[in-house]
Amino acid sequence: MSVKDDVMQKVVSLCKRRGFVFQSSEIYGGLKSAYDYGPLGVELKRNLMNLWWREMVHSREDVVGLDASIMMHPRVWQASGHLAGFSDPLVDCLICKERFRADKAPRKSNGEALVLTYADKDRAKTAATWLEQNQPELTFDRQGKEIHGISASNRGYVCPVCSSPFLSTERQFNLMFRSHIGPVDPIGSLAQNIAAGDFNGLSPEEIRQKLDQVTKEGAIYLRPETAQAMFVQFDNIMTSMSMKVPFGIAQMGKSFRNEITTEHFIFRSCEFEQMEMEFFCEPGTDDQWMQYWVEKRMGWWKKWANYPEKFVARAHEPEELAHYAKACFDIEYEYPWGFGELEGIANRTDYDLKKHAEYSNKKLSYFDQANNKRYVPYVIEPAAGATRGVLVYLLDAYCEETLENGETRTVMKFHPQLSPIKVAVLPLVKKDGMPEKARSLVDAFFKRGISASLDVQQSIGHRYRRHDEIGTPWCLTIDGQTMEDQTITIRDRDTMAQKRISIDAAIEEIERLLRESWG
Ligand code: ATP
Repeated sequence: MSVKDDVMQKVVSLCKRRGFVFQSSEIYGGLKSAYDYGPLGVELKRNLMNLWWREMVHSREDVVGLDASIMMHPRVWQASGHLAGFSDPLVDCLICKERFRADKAPRKSNGEALVLTYADKDRAKTAATWLEQNQPELTFDRQGKEIHGISASNRGYVCPVCSSPFLSTERQFNLMFRSHIGPVDPIGSLAQNIAAGDFNGLSPEEIRQKLDQVTKEGAIYLRPETAQAMFVQFDNIMTSMSMKVPFGIAQMGKSFRNEITTEHFIFRSCEFEQMEMEFFCEPGTDDQWMQYWVEKRMGWWKKWANYPEKFVARAHEPEELAHYAKACFDIEYEYPWGFGELEGIANRTDYDLKKHAEYSNKKLSYFDQANNKRYVPYVIEPAAGATRGVLVYLLDAYCEETLENGETRTVMKFHPQLSPIKVAVLPLVKKDGMPEKARSLVDAFFKRGISASLDVQQSIGHRYRRHDEIGTPWCLTIDGQTMEDQTITIRDRDTMAQKRISIDAAIEEIERLLRESWG
């Protein structure tokens, strides 16, 4: 196991052990790529999303919020192009049967030598038999679990599991989850079609088309992104709030994609949360706003990180750009497996407003009274992953330190604004009035809206370790001296330094530290 895999495994295991993230439906064997955010995970995710909302909506007058429904009119997805084009190229390996995304598969150039590798000798033997039967002109050599002598084809990629170049043709696989709304029963309609012999004599492709027609009736889709509602509600929001261009609409919430390849824990899952904003501006000012938002968003991600150098902004190459986009930057993070996307910032031009105007027959444009002109605004869209952001800050925070006594201390060095619990109050022993004093201090924190925890279990050393592992920035300890002089110790998570302060000053001190952590 490489050191980098090791970090990922340690974070995944800490997430389960300490109640950050669990596998969904775990007692039933789990649901692939679905995760539940436990008591501390939900706090971490909310803190992150609240910080985004504070930055994008509450700290400015030119951006307003929206909380749209997840299910929208099916025409929305026709207009946006998601119904026709939101798909990934799907391929099957003819040997090991792995189904994978062609665009994410390992690249190999034509003629490059390959080593086909299987989990064990038996599987390699089965693969060799397949080759003898289906590629009789090839000569190859099986050595244990490996097959040598095969070269890459002009497909440009191979199976990510066994490296085979023998692959099915690519099929487009739509990523939207489809369901049905209202009293429609597509299965019942299909049963009637079949009973009436409507499908007799049709080719598989024709049957597929007919099935598609029947099931499309009453079809509804779970949104694959939060963005479209902001375009669809553009006019309502502009009118009701008297917004003047430039202005933005922000939304955060769940999105759903039937991802073929789910990977790296919560990095890519089928149900996830996004934080997106559509910023409407006058054509001609879009390049400036693009630069503004790339800088702003980069600064925001770095602000909460211990290792800001791990965030980079990468401009898309022209061939990477979506057909409607004028420019796009990805904010990437250096994950243990390499750089990957965390947020995309795209100049979507006037594409979406024009498409929705065309499909809805409604005017979606802006009248600039000062200059007496009407135009369709351009849009800059910073689109971030909230659940992916949680993974980034879990990885950023994870730290192991060797103490003077040789023991290893695991600390989650979350920024205090992200920490699920801000302060722990620890009575040294469960007697002599200490638990009662701790209780009233915790209640006083609650009254001030500060998330605090009263922890009485195990030795004080164990309790410090536990709070280090969940990233509590400060621990307050009530001991014998407290009962005499009303002082307590405050311990800093990162330096482990302790000092005594008056118990009456405890709340003010934590409030001061929290205020200062904003920087
Ligand atoms: P990727 O290339 O990783 O599939 P994308 O370009 O399809 O991402 P966008 O459509 O731009 O992603 O979505 C904006 C953000 O939403 C991404 O930067 C990412 O943080 C997050 N995101 C997208 N798909 C997923 C997913 N399946 N699971 C978790 N987060 C996701």
